[in-house]
Amino acid sequence: MARQSDGLLKDYRAKRDFTKTQEPAGTSAMGKSKGYRFVVQKHDATRLHYDFRIELDGVLKSWAVTKGPSDNPDDKRLAVRVEDHPLDYGGFEGTIPEGEYGGGTVMLWDEGTREPIGDPHAALQDGDLKMVLHGHRMKGEWVLVHMKGRDSKRKSGPPRENWLLIKHKDKYAKQKETTVERFTNSVSTGHDLAGIAKGLKPKKRSTIAADATRHSDKDKAVDNPLPAKPGRRKRAANLPAFRAPQLATLVSDVPAGGDWLFEMKYDGYRCTAAIAGDTVRLFTRTGKDWTEQFKAIVPPLSRLTKGSA
Ligand code: MN
Repeated sequence: MARQSDGLLKDYRAKRDFTKTQEPAGTSAMGKSKGYRFVVQKHDATRLHYDFRIELDGVLKSWAVTKGPSDNPDDKRLAVRVEDHPLDYGGFEGTIPEGEYGGGTVMLWDEGTREPIGDPHAALQDGDLKMVLHGHRMKGEWVLVHMKGRDSKRKSGPPRENWLLIKHKDKYAKQKETTVERFTNSVSTGHDLAGIAKGLKPKKRSTIAADATRHSDKDKAVDNPLPAKPGRRKRAANLPAFRAPQLATLVSDVPAGGDWLFEMKYDGYRCTAAIAGDTVRLFTRTGKDWTEQFKAIVPPLSRLTKGSA
């Protein structure tokens, strides 16, 4: 079945040799997502930059932000529009081989959900794309502004679109500190660029989550999340053990009375989440740990409660 995203991903695929790079070709079923995700990938290519990507129309609309996002509203960061990327690129972290397009190490620097302000299609067209971000590091209102009339001509193809990425004034705005200086490790594996390049195993989830969400003014910059000293560690809630969920029973008649609720059974997977503060485990109905398979929903669940659930 042809998807809308197939046409949008022509440029993306034309630039890459998928026998050489481990980047996704964008053919997996993940293109079905209905959510509004956003990701930021720190990309140590010829020139270090941050790729800011938002989900729309089954692809990731993308901008290369040279200096990275700043949560100081006075900073206007140049964001060059680049080709649409497949949705599953949003989970990519690793190294693109030298000599290939975009060769260098890619870090998952931030991820989360976004709420568009207004119609995102019209906003993209008008070059005034406002949104509220719920990431580990990028939070609150942001805007991407297309500097129309300031696009750069290229030898071939359409002109290069120059946009600006700007933080709006809100409670997440900061005067001096910039997020890219404070956070230099992956929200996915906890490693810095060197660690990712070496292909190190991901750090413990609880360590990564604690570092990735540390965002208050009182906290000092955290580069590599060192495990807290045992004596000073805050007492964390205990992770609830797996409990077998109640299963459906096939009956021939719908039960009557006000004690029943009905819901449509959508096809797909169901799992239970055990939460203790920012530690999250996802279980299948037989108790298999599927946290890794559904890691995209771990960050929002990790923000649900300071206690256990
Ligand atoms: Mn890039």
